[in-house]
Parts: sequence; structure tokens; C-alpha cells
Amino acid sequence: MHIYFDNASTTPLYPEVMEEMFEVQKSIIGNPSSIHYHGRNARASIEKARKVIAEYIHASVGEVYFTSGATESNNWVLRSAVSSLGVQHLVVSAIEHPCVLKTSRALETEGKIQLHILPVDENGSVDLIQLENVLGAINGKVLVSIMHGNNEIGTMQPIQEIGEICHHYGALFHCDAVQTITKYPINLQSLKVHFLSASAHKFHGPKGVGFLFMRNDAILRPLLLGGSQERSVRAGTENVAGIAGMAKAFQLSCDNMEGNRIYIQSLKDRVMQRLGTAYLDIRFNGNLNQHSLSHILSVSLPPTLKSDMVVMNLDIEGISVSSGSACSAGIEEDSHVLQAIQHPIQRKAIRCSFSKFNTIDEVDFCCDVILRILS
Ligand code: PLP
Repeated sequence: MHIYFDNASTTPLYPEVMEEMFEVQKSIIGNPSSIHYHGRNARASIEKARKVIAEYIHASVGEVYFTSGATESNNWVLRSAVSSLGVQHLVVSAIEHPCVLKTSRALETEGKIQLHILPVDENGSVDLIQLENVLGAINGKVLVSIMHGNNEIGTMQPIQEIGEICHHYGALFHCDAVQTITKYPINLQSLKVHFLSASAHKFHGPKGVGFLFMRNDAILRPLLLGGSQERSVRAGTENVAGIAGMAKAFQLSCDNMEGNRIYIQSLKDRVMQRLGTAYLDIRFNGNLNQHSLSHILSVSLPPTLKSDMVVMNLDIEGISVSSGSACSAGIEEDSHVLQAIQHPIQRKAIRCSFSKFNTIDEVDFCCDVILRILS
């Protein structure tokens, strides 16, 4: 038996998505840029997908741009906001994904922007007063990039309020919604965000495809030069089957969003209840009230040698969890997120992340193994 508790890293495909993608791969052979019959078929498949996604997020179809995933979307926003919208200041939180933080630092090193990194409190929350103070003190065009839900500790930021603050100070706002899209309602009619990034493989869609929402009044120039796909701002032949699969996964996830969330939260609650009452000095990182993602649980283990072995021993027992950020898995380095929340260095953090395909029995087995390893 193999148990998968690493759904913040990536998720298994829905069987229906697999079928949809197989069907598209089999029957749609054209290049969507071709004007003949086969090309028009491919184009129609893409536009159908765009409509599905746009409707769910309350955007217009012209505001959804397909990309290879959130890494590309985030790089595109940060780099092109500087080169095409005249942004001179970037404001980011200290716990953004590396694709935001590294791009921001690169832009600063290249002398293109001034970078303002907002610290977070011990739960991973951004201080909105501090955001206001920073924005109030800046002269020049600003882009604020703050994620909706953190991929390591699950803390959610109040993006509605952040959008209002950005609007008040005339700043552009980009939100990395990779961990929340299809899990929490996102209404781009009311949310004051200019750019929003998403990746299909986080919601049971295929890997290597995502999208960027870009508001009509903040159009970015392309990051890559080439063909005139995606209204001439994202060159490269579209991933037709991937896009169709993403739309299907989007639809399936959104159709039972609340039910899925309640179920997944019950799995997380169960782990917290079992590990938290075991008298082994097990703690939980992040904001544990309602501002926490239902699918992510960062567990802080006591400072013993046994804790160092937990991820490996769980793997031996057939349970996949993550230590630190999965996106830099394979390289053991201190997580910038754990540092930002001042997680004690001698404690070991592991991340369990759930999906609707997990069961209570799996959770119980995982808790049994963790408690056995630690005791
Ligand atoms: N942003 C967040 C919050 C993530 O969790 C991830 C992936 O883990 C990314 C961006 C990058 O997504 P992708 O690897 O699909 O490009």
C-alpha cells in the first residue's frame, strides 16, 4: 500500500481528466494557429477551456492566458510589469514561492527595481499596517506580489483587503493563487487583483500547464518572443490536451468545492487531534484558525534524532510526505518559510498535504507510524 500525502506538491489526475486528455490527443491533431479544419478544431478546444475557467473565476474570456504553469506566470508578471508597465518597486512577502522571490531578487540585482520584502509574524501572516506603511513611503510605480495560501505552512493572506490597500495606493497587485484556486471561491469581479497565477497539477489536472489572469487594463508584453499565440503576448504552440485537461479538472474541483474542502479539513483535523494530544511535544506551524488552507498541515516535531528520520521512515512504510517545500525537494536546505516564521532550527518540520482521494484510514495509519517512530 502506498499513501500519498504530498498534494501541495502535486495531485493525482482525475480519471475523467485522463479520459478527456486521451480523447483530445487522439482526435485533435491540428495546430490551433492553423486556419484549416484541423487547426480550427484545436482552436475550438482551447477556447472552450478558456470559457470554462473564465466563468468559474468571474473573468472575461479575454483575460485568461494559458501558460506552462505558475512558475512561468509568476516570472512573466514580475519581469514584464517592470519592462512594460514601468514598475520600479516590487513589494513581496518573505514567504512567497521561490519563483517569485528569486525573480524579484534577480530584478533587484539587475538594478531594475527596488525590492521591499515584508516580514510575516510567527503564524506566517503579513502585517497589513506594514504593507500600508511601505506603500505610503514609496514614490514611483509599484507591483505588490502576495500569495493567497502558502504552500509550506498553509497560512492564507487576506487578499480582498490587500487588493483594497493596493487600489488605495495605486499599486498593481499580483496574487499567486496556486494553492487556493478551485479550493476557495475566487471572484475576479470583486477582487482588486490585476494578475493571478494558477497551475493545473495542483487541482488534479496535468503537469506543465497553467494560466495567468491578466486584467484588461494591465496588459503585459510577452516574456518569450515568437509566434502570436494568446493574443500575441504568450508565444509558443499551445498545449492543447493539457489545456483541455486543466479545464476539466477545474470544473470537477469547483463543482464540489465546499464538500471537498470540508472533507479534506476533516482529515487535517484528525491528524492534528491525534498527534497534538500524544504528549510528544508535537506542534503545528501556521495560522491554525480559519486562515489556514484545509489541505496543508505543517507538523513541527520535537528536537530529537528520531524526528530527523520521520520522512525517511514514513517513506519506508509507504507514506509520502514532504519535508520543507516540495518544489526544492531533493536538496536539503533550510526553508525560507520556516525561517521567516522563526521555527526553531533544532525542531524538524514535515508537511502532510491531503486531497479528496485520501481516506481516514490512511490518516490513522500515518499517525500510528509517526507516533511509533517518535516514541
Ligand atoms: N506557487 C506556489 C504557491 C506553488 O506551490 C508552486 C508549486 O509548488 C508554484 C508557484 C510553482 O508552480 P509550478 O511548479 O506548477 O510552475
